[in-house]
Amino acid sequence: MSEISKILQKETLLHNDLVQLLSTKGEDMNTLFLHAQKVKEQFVGNKVYFRGLIELSNRCKKNCYYCGIRSGNPNIHRYFVDEQEVLNAVQYAHEKGFGSIVLQSGERNDKDFAETIERLLKKIMQLTNNEIGITLSLGEQDEETYARWRAAGAKRYLLRIEASNRDLYAKLHPQDHNYDHRLNCLQLLRKTDYQVGTGVMIGLPFQTLDDLAEDLLFFKTLDIDMCGMGPYIEHEETPLYQYRDQLLPKEERFLLSLKMVALLRILMKNVNIAATTAMQTLDPQGREKALRVGSNVIMPNLTPLKYRDDYLLYEDKPAQSETADETVQLLEEHIKAAGCQVAYFEHGDSQHYQLRK
Ligand code: SAM
Ligand code: SF4
Repeated sequence: MSEISKILQKETLLHNDLVQLLSTKGEDMNTLFLHAQKVKEQFVGNKVYFRGLIELSNRCKKNCYYCGIRSGNPNIHRYFVDEQEVLNAVQYAHEKGFGSIVLQSGERNDKDFAETIERLLKKIMQLTNNEIGITLSLGEQDEETYARWRAAGAKRYLLRIEASNRDLYAKLHPQDHNYDHRLNCLQLLRKTDYQVGTGVMIGLPFQTLDDLAEDLLFFKTLDIDMCGMGPYIEHEETPLYQYRDQLLPKEERFLLSLKMVALLRILMKNVNIAATTAMQTLDPQGREKALRVGSNVIMPNLTPLKYRDDYLLYEDKPAQSETADETVQLLEEHIKAAGCQVAYFEHGDSQHYQLRK
């Protein structure tokens, strides 16, 4: 038995095991992927859940050093998707049998924003006879706002910690972005009864394999229900772009991301793990590869085409001019090729959340 196979047999994977597994290449890496695939088959099966993604607005008060729509980027046209267009996208998802949608946007904390979202949530629930599941990804908010949105119909929330190492976090954000505040928001989401999702970017400048191993252990300690993580991809109009020569080559960054997905599936067997768009950016088959080794959620982009080029978080974001029908058709083919099947008309709630309740 190879050394990697022996590590994979262990009941509990510790920091050094994870670092070793994250360093695997060739045959050893395939052993890891095969093991993760078996765990996935056993615990979550081959169903893939669609969450229709609506990139609601690129207005953001924050200034993260990695993000193309940061407030400090003067070169983008700011938008908020028209309410009727949001409802049209929701109706499309509902009619097609997507169990859920995701509303994502830049961060705002003003009263008007909180009310607009609350109103929108109520309209979405009304339009779909309370049938559609709603995930939010709208950044850091106070407890009252999270609770109001939860009462209005949202049931899952994605808030990536971005980097669980607080020193690394500080290098990626301006001083007024606070790690403890973000962490506290994750606790508030738990308290207000959301299915809680977090995640990190992989292959960031200054990031080490030790950091990534700790990210995985952080997810476990936090006992998350869902995870969305993917490779960091550079954007020319951001401060981190100056470090682009220090990044791993794209293929390696992609494989490292795939190893993170596989390891999380092994560590947290029944959580929902997204195959993210950033995976597809570095490898055209990236999301399907992620499905094979552990992911079970995909977020087809339903943002109206006219807004998409204004939501460029990073370079080469794929399928910017693909219609929803084209996206769904292509995804279905690739999902089948990965040995999985789309679960239509199912919410696909995190099993982890259901058991935890
Ligand atoms: N504003 C909310 C927030 O930050 O939590 C939600 C929207 S934000 C655009 C969603 C995610 O995009 C972030 O959590 C971050 O991980 C990811 N992102 C931003 N810039 C990125 C980049 N250059 N490469 C990869 N992912 C990026
Ligand atoms: Fe704003 Fe989110 Fe981008 Fe940070 S990652 S600048 S909070 S949209």
